[in-house]
Amino acid sequence: MMDAGRHPNITLLTYSEVEEVSGYVGNFTARIRKRARSVKEDVCTGCGLCQEKCPTKVIDTSFEAGMGKRKAIYTPFSQAIPNIPVIDREHCLFFTKGRCKLCEKVCPTKAIDYGQEDQLLEVEVGAIIVATGFGMWDPTQLPQYSYGLSPNIITGLQFERLSSAGGPTKGEIMTAEGKRPENVAIIHCVGSRDHNAHEYCSRFCCMYSLKHAHLVRDRTGARVFEFYMDMRAFGKAYEEFYERVQKEGVLFVRGRGAEVEVLPDGKLRVKGEDTNLGRLVSADVDLVILATAVEPPPGADKVASIFGLGRTPDGWFAEAHPKLRPVETATAGVFLAGCAQGPRDVPDTVAHAGAAALEVVRLFNQGEVTISPTVAVVDEESCVGCGECILACPYAAIARNARGKAEVNPALCHGCGTCAATCPSGAITALHFTDEEIVAQIDGLLAMAAG
Ligand SMILES: Cc1cc2nc3c(=O)[nH]c(=O)nc-3n(C[C@H](O)[C@H](O)[C@H](O)COP(=O)(O)OP(=O)(O)OC[C@H]3O[C@@H](n4cnc5c(N)ncnc54)[C@H](O)[C@@H]3O)c2cc1C
Repeated sequence: MMDAGRHPNITLLTYSEVEEVSGYVGNFTARIRKRARSVKEDVCTGCGLCQEKCPTKVIDTSFEAGMGKRKAIYTPFSQAIPNIPVIDREHCLFFTKGRCKLCEKVCPTKAIDYGQEDQLLEVEVGAIIVATGFGMWDPTQLPQYSYGLSPNIITGLQFERLSSAGGPTKGEIMTAEGKRPENVAIIHCVGSRDHNAHEYCSRFCCMYSLKHAHLVRDRTGARVFEFYMDMRAFGKAYEEFYERVQKEGVLFVRGRGAEVEVLPDGKLRVKGEDTNLGRLVSADVDLVILATAVEPPPGADKVASIFGLGRTPDGWFAEAHPKLRPVETATAGVFLAGCAQGPRDVPDTVAHAGAAALEVVRLFNQGEVTISPTVAVVDEESCVGCGECILACPYAAIARNARGKAEVNPALCHGCGTCAATCPSGAITALHFTDEEIVAQIDGLLAMAAG
C-alpha cells in the first residue's frame, strides 16, 4: 500500500466508489464518488491529535469486527494509506447536535472542514481490475453455534483483532471477562461445505485456524480442541505447519463441531462427533472461535451491474474461463483479482493480482484489440425503437442512436444472440447465426444422416 501510495504513476482514490462505467475496452469512462472526509487531505499531516481529543467513542464494527471502539473522527484501519482520518457524521457531536468542534480547535494545520461535500470525478481508463474481495458470512444463520448468545463465542476475524498487537487487548488473548482462557475450541467449516449455508470451501480457514491454535497455545498455554472435517493444508509449507501445530499439543477432533451450548455458569460446551473414534465427544471451554465462511461482499450486486460482470452460482464474479482465462471476465478490458473471483489466501491473491496486472500490460502493449465477427446487427428499417433489446443485453452493448433506433456497439457485443431472440420486430440478426444459416446446417446434418 505504501509503495502504491508513493508511486508517481498511481493515483489512489481512497474513501471513493465507482458509481458508473461507460465505454468499452481501451476507452472506458468511470464516474467516481469521492466521499467527503470532512478533513482536507492536502493539509492534514496525520498527527492524530484530533482522534486523541475527540470525546465520542463508537463500537467499530468494521476494522475491529465489533471487538473494539474508535472515535467519531478516526483512521479507518491501522497503517491506512493515506494516514488521514475521516469524520463519521452519524456519530460526530457537531453533525448530530451542532456542538463540540474539538477536533477543529486542536488541529494544528486547520485541516478540519465540516462543510466538505462529496466530489464526483470522471476518469478515462483503458482497462479495469475489479478487486473488491470478500465479505464475512453471518453465523447467527446457523443457531446451533449460539453465536451472539455469549461474548466468548467469536469468529476467526474477531480473533484476529483479539490477538493483534494493535487490537483492543494489545494482543493479549483473553475472555470477555478479562481472564486468560484455559480451554479453547476452534470449529472449522462454520457455514462452508454445508448444504444449509454455503456448499463451497472457503479455502483459507483451515490454515488461519491452525494459526489461531498456534497463537493460543503459544500465548496462553490453554488446551485447544480443534474440530475439523478434513485439513486442507494445500499450499507451500502448509502441511509442515499443520504437523508443527500437532506437535505443539493441539487436540484435533476429526468431525464438524455440531453444537455450542451456553451453560448456566456462562461456560461453553462444544459437542461433535469424532469420526476417527466413531463416538460423540464434548468439551467444556472458555472461548470458542468459529472459522466462519466467507462470501461475496454485500455490495457485489451493485459492482456486478456497474462493471457488467457475470456471477457463478455461488455469487462470486465469473472469470471468462476457469482454467484458461482465470483473470479475464466476459467483458473485454475488465479483469478480476483476488477474492472477488473466489476465496483465496494472500499468496494466491498476490499471484492472481499480478496476473491481472500483466493482462492489462499485455492489452496495452498490443495497441489494438481483436473482436469477434460474431456480433449482432440491427436493421434500422425494421427497428421500432421499443428498447426491449437494450434491457435484454447482458453486456450493455446496445443503446438508442440519434434516430431512436437500437444500435449495437461491436466492441461490447459478445454475439450471445439474446437481443435477436428478444426483438419483437425481428430487426436484429446475430451475424453467422442467421435463421437461414442454422436451417442450412440442420438440412446438411439431416442429409448426412439420411444418406
Ligand atoms: C479471519 C481471517 C484470517 C485470515 N488469515 C490469513 C492468513 O493468515 N494468511 C493468508 O494468506 N490469508 C489469510 N486470510 C485471507 C486473506 O484475508 C485474503 O486472502 C485477502 O484478504 C484477499 O485479499 P483481496 O484483496 O482479494 O480482498 P480483501 O482483503 O477483502 O480486499 C478487498 C478490498 O476492496 C474494498 N472494496 C469492496 N468493495 C468495494 C467497492 N465497491 N469500491 C471500493 N472498494 C471496495 C474492501 O473494502 C477491501 O478493502 C484470512 C482471512 C480471514 C477472514
